[in-house]
Amino acid sequence: MSKRKIAVIGVGKIAQDQHLPVIDASEDFELAATVSTRGIGHGDLPVFRSPAELYAAMPEIGLVSICTPPGVRHAYVREALDAGKDVMLEKPPTTTISELDDLIAHAGRLDRVIFQTWHSQYNAAVDRAKVILSEEGVSAARIDWRESVRKWHPGQDWVWEPGGFGVCDPGINAFSIFTKVMPFPVFVDSARLIFPANRQTPIDVDIAFKSSQPHRPDLSCGFNWLEESGEIWTIAFKTGAGNEVKLERGGRTLRVNGEVVLEHGDEEYARMYDRFADLLEARESDVDVRPFRLMGDVFLLGARENGPDFNW
Ligand code: NAP
Repeated sequence: MSKRKIAVIGVGKIAQDQHLPVIDASEDFELAATVSTRGIGHGDLPVFRSPAELYAAMPEIGLVSICTPPGVRHAYVREALDAGKDVMLEKPPTTTISELDDLIAHAGRLDRVIFQTWHSQYNAAVDRAKVILSEEGVSAARIDWRESVRKWHPGQDWVWEPGGFGVCDPGINAFSIFTKVMPFPVFVDSARLIFPANRQTPIDVDIAFKSSQPHRPDLSCGFNWLEESGEIWTIAFKTGAGNEVKLERGGRTLRVNGEVVLEHGDEEYARMYDRFADLLEARESDVDVRPFRLMGDVFLLGARENGPDFNW
């Protein structure tokens, strides 16, 4: 079968790190154009300054992958759906849950495919952890998600603006794993969010969760954006059978009682594009609102504290 033509909208860090090379290597997709407000292209392919220019000039492109920050995504996804495109979008999907609800409904009305991605879910070690936890239950869980904002969002001021999520932008990756693998629903019990006094989004967050489970599992979480020693992206579980199940490296390593039982390289974006191809074939959409709802509750319930200023 011939490859499906796709355009990437927003050619920033994640588009360049992941989307463009993964599409280049894909058997299912062929990059046909980019849309970049700064005019950044890929090889000799056409570059358009706005999605509208792309849709007018190259109507044969039926798919777009939207890699902008979340603040502009609702408008961009709506515009793409209205132009008759099937759409894949980066995480976090939008800035509010009602915007995401609107996109789901709009895609349904227009009979378009919408694939709202959470890249951290696309790890074999995460899939294996889910199976273990569904069999053994969970008596405790601890999320630690610490990284350097200067390394992962260099100079990106949008992360500090309202709707930019702050450290909850990477933190929602942890939630996307957590809500996928947990065998029962969890709720935010309390949260403390530290905001740099000169910024609009948090840099450090502590969360306690609760559940309606009678065994009262101990569930907690910490995000930090000033970790310069390297990434700490771990979720450690104690199962009902007493085993320690730990996901490390953002879901690429699975340890059980300290022993590595599964470890693999970076496969998230390749698997995501495989999933998009399957959804297109089946004409089905895929949206998972759970991580976003949980993060929304962190902001609704969290106590705010001011911390030191943040400057790049
Ligand atoms: P980024 O480097 O700032 O790139 C976003 C790009 O979107 C910009 O470079 C710009 O590209 C375009 N854009 C369009 N409208 C914009 C606006 N109003 N403000 C800013 N940029 C605008 O950000 P990123 O790190 O790639 O993150 C983009 C999304 O991917 C975020 O939702 C993030 O959570 C997610 N993500 C990021 C990473 C990571 O490692 N950084 C990892 C996974 C997922 P043009 O100039 O080409 O238009």
